[in-house]
Amino acid sequence: MPLAPNVYDAEPIPEAACAEIERLLQSGDLFRYTAPKDAPVTVLEREFAEFMGARYAVCVSSCSAALFLSLKALDLPRGARVLIPAFTFAAVPSAVVHADCHPVLAEVGTNYRLDMDDFAAKLDQDISAVIISHMRGHTSDMDAIMALCAERDVPVIEDAAHSLGTRWHGRNIGTLGKIGCFSFQSYKMVNAGEGGVLITDDADLAARAVIMSGAYEHNWKKHDGLQNSFARWQNKLPLYNLRMQNLSAVVIRPQLAEVERRVRDGLANHDYVADRLNTSPWMDVPPPLGPEERAPDSLQFNLVGFDTDEEAIAFQAEAKARGVSVQVFGLSQDNARAFWNWQFIDGPTPDLPKTRAMLMRACDTRLPARLQQPDLDFIANALLDAAEAVKAETRAYGT
Ligand SMILES: *Cc1c(COP(=O)(O)O)cnc(C)c1O
Repeated sequence: MPLAPNVYDAEPIPEAACAEIERLLQSGDLFRYTAPKDAPVTVLEREFAEFMGARYAVCVSSCSAALFLSLKALDLPRGARVLIPAFTFAAVPSAVVHADCHPVLAEVGTNYRLDMDDFAAKLDQDISAVIISHMRGHTSDMDAIMALCAERDVPVIEDAAHSLGTRWHGRNIGTLGKIGCFSFQSYKMVNAGEGGVLITDDADLAARAVIMSGAYEHNWKKHDGLQNSFARWQNKLPLYNLRMQNLSAVVIRPQLAEVERRVRDGLANHDYVADRLNTSPWMDVPPPLGPEERAPDSLQFNLVGFDTDEEAIAFQAEAKARGVSVQVFGLSQDNARAFWNWQFIDGPTPDLPKTRAMLMRACDTRLPARLQQPDLDFIANALLDAAEAVKAETRAYGT
């Protein structure tokens, strides 16, 4: 039997980073604002903005920091209500709380995308801003979302942490809202260990984010094209010091050239395994929405006809016994993507029956772009066999 593929190892960092890292180590020039100009972080900001087709990019320490700074840049009042999907990573409501705002959760359907009826209803409940979290790279109906928010003049922040390379009607995800935020944490498309960036076309938002990210005194002069906005905000904003350092930028820059290949391979891998799982009566991989071109590096699917939690838990165990780790989001203890575990949010846990039902049968498994055909077959076979094993047992013994 072939060995189970290792789905945790990252790709090596491109060779091109090594000489630059060596140069930084020799000079000790790690702080982004020491060099008079063209520090690696500054160059990355230029390259990333161009890569995405945005006017401005601000590199920071994480996507969480980018989300926090986005809310701060919008100058929301203390206690402002921010609408987010109920299916996301705990970092998202955490960023809202960090910004002294209150997260309001909207229902998410079995296709992992926002339930638009619930979203539209909650948008009229005194909402000051929206964060659309493209969770696991699944894109909600951005046409409807942008129209609803534009009618009410509610700003949209895109949490595109896991969506680098995803497109909507051919446009890059992260460029649809007022601000787009991305992650360079190791499990994302570009790996710097940690790191994040926000992009925007709005000069004032960019300037505010730059200063609050920690461009103290006149360090803002090392950011291009925002001089008038900076002068307006000098000494008026707190400095949260969420900067990126040069080593991270040097690790990230050569990976931008790899994104296209990773997206192509990741999507091919995903669709291959998805097609195989969809041949089973016990599993369903929801299709993307029409305008969406995905860039997945993991696979989500729903268990179908698994009437009890015990069956779903047995499926996790059967897959594990076959060498493949699967998490049912709502059935793995303390999962950071289950909204009832976000007990740091003020007030009682909200009643979100659709999202809860989805989380109790939705499975998550890693599927990095570097996997090869035998790895994909190994994973698909393990999942198909695991489902059969559980359901055969149920048929034999009843429930
Ligand atoms: C990873 C992730 C984040 C957080 O990114 P960090 O860079 O680790 O702060 C936020 N939202 C989503 C959807 C993510 O996948």
